[in-house]
Amino acid sequence: MLIREMVLHPIAIADPPLRSSYGLHAPFALRTVVELKTDSGITGISETYGGDGPVAALEAARPWVEGMDPFRLAGLWARFNADAASQTGSVAGGRSQTYMVPGENPLDRHARTFAAIEIACLDAIGKAVGQPVCDVIGGRVRDAVSFSAYLFYKHAGGGGVGGDAREDEYGEILSAKACVRSARQMIEAYGFREIKLKGGVLDPAEEIASIKSLREEFGAEYPLRIDPNCAWSVDTSVEVGRALKEELSGGGYLEDPCAELEGMAEVRRRLLAEGNQTPLASNVATTCFADVPKAHGLDAVQVVLCDPHYWGGMRQVQQLSHLCEVLGLGMSMHSNSHLGVSLMAMTHVAAASPHLFYACDTHYPWQTEKDEIVEGGRVRFVNGCVPVPGKPGLGVSLDYDQLARGRERYNKIPWRKRDDEAEMRKHVDPDWKRVLPRW
Ligand SMILES: [Mg+2]
Repeated sequence: MLIREMVLHPIAIADPPLRSSYGLHAPFALRTVVELKTDSGITGISETYGGDGPVAALEAARPWVEGMDPFRLAGLWARFNADAASQTGSVAGGRSQTYMVPGENPLDRHARTFAAIEIACLDAIGKAVGQPVCDVIGGRVRDAVSFSAYLFYKHAGGGGVGGDAREDEYGEILSAKACVRSARQMIEAYGFREIKLKGGVLDPAEEIASIKSLREEFGAEYPLRIDPNCAWSVDTSVEVGRALKEELSGGGYLEDPCAELEGMAEVRRRLLAEGNQTPLASNVATTCFADVPKAHGLDAVQVVLCDPHYWGGMRQVQQLSHLCEVLGLGMSMHSNSHLGVSLMAMTHVAAASPHLFYACDTHYPWQTEKDEIVEGGRVRFVNGCVPVPGKPGLGVSLDYDQLARGRERYNKIPWRKRDDEAEMRKHVDPDWKRVLPRW
C-alpha cells in the first residue's frame, strides 16, 4: 500500500467566546482535516490544528508523504527529525516554549505535522488489516476512555457570527454559580465523572470560590482540577494550592499554576513543606520528551499531559505513557477545540496507553452538531466515556457535505491563525495584553 495523494481540508468551526489566560477564543476555531489516499483504494484520515501555519507545514511535507508506505512511519519520523534539527537545532519535539497557544508554537511544528500524518497512516493501516487503531498500535487496555467535564469562564454567545451563529447552550459563565450550572449541564448531557476548570481569568479568590462551589455541589467523588495556564506568581500559586488543598486532593491536580519548571518546583517544595501533596500537572512547561527529565529531576511536575496532536502522534504518546510509569509520574491528556476525528484519535491512543489513568480533557461539549464532520453526527458519550468503536481504523468516516460547509466557512472568515490576545482587545478590553504572572 502506497500513499498516492495527500488532500488537505482547512475548515472553520463555530467556537464560543471562551476565556483563558491566553485571552479570548475567536468566533471560529480553525482545524485541518487530512486525507491520505492510497493506491489500494483505502483513505486514512486525521484532524489537526488549522490556519496558514499548520497547512503550510503539511504542504512542505507533501513530497515525503506522497509515494510513501503508511506502514513505514519510523522512517518518516527520521526525516522530520533531521529537518527539525537543521531548522531549530533540535530533533522534532525536542524543545518547548511557554508563551504561544498550542498550534502556533514553531518549536513543536515538526512533531505536530508528523502527528497529523501518522494518525492518518494508522487509520489507513487499521482499515487495511481490519482492526481498530488502538489494536494496531499494540492493543487496548480499556474498552472505553473517560473524559472530564472541561469548564471555561465565558462571555455570552455560542460561537459563530451573523446567520452562522450557534445557540448559546451554556450562557455567560463569569461566576462560581454559573460554573456550577455549566458543570451540571455537562454532566447531565455526557455523564462526566471528573471536572476541570480553565482558570487564570478572574481574580484567584473568585476561582477558588468556583472550585469550592463545585466541590460542594458534586462532592469528593468528582475529582477537580484547575488550570490557569501560568497566570499566577509562585506566591499566588502556593496560596491557591493552600486554599484548595482539600478540593484538589483525591484524584485532582493543580495544572500549570505558574510559568517555567523552576517556578513549578518552588510551588511544589513550598506545598510539600506544609504537608500538601496536591500534584502539579503540566502541558505548558512540559510539552516534549526533552522536558521530562528536568521536570522530574526538579519534582516540578507530577502529572504530564500528553496530546497526540503535538507530542508527535499516537505511538509517541504510548512511549510517554511508559516513561511516566518508569519515572513514577502520572499522565493525563490535554485538548484543544476539536471535532470527532480528533476525539477518536484521542480515544484510541488513550485506550492503548496503559498508564493514562486520569480522565482526558476534551473541548467537545463546546462544539455543536452543525460543525461536526463525521458521518452520523456527533460522537456519543456513555457515562462520561467514549467507547472504543469496533470498526477498523479510527472508526469514523467523513461527511463530505459537512466538510464542504466547514471549508466554505473557512474561506469566508478573515482568521488564518489563532490569536486570543487580539480577540480580547477587539471584544473585551482594547488595551489587553497577556501578562505573566497576572496575579
Ligand atoms: Mg493546560
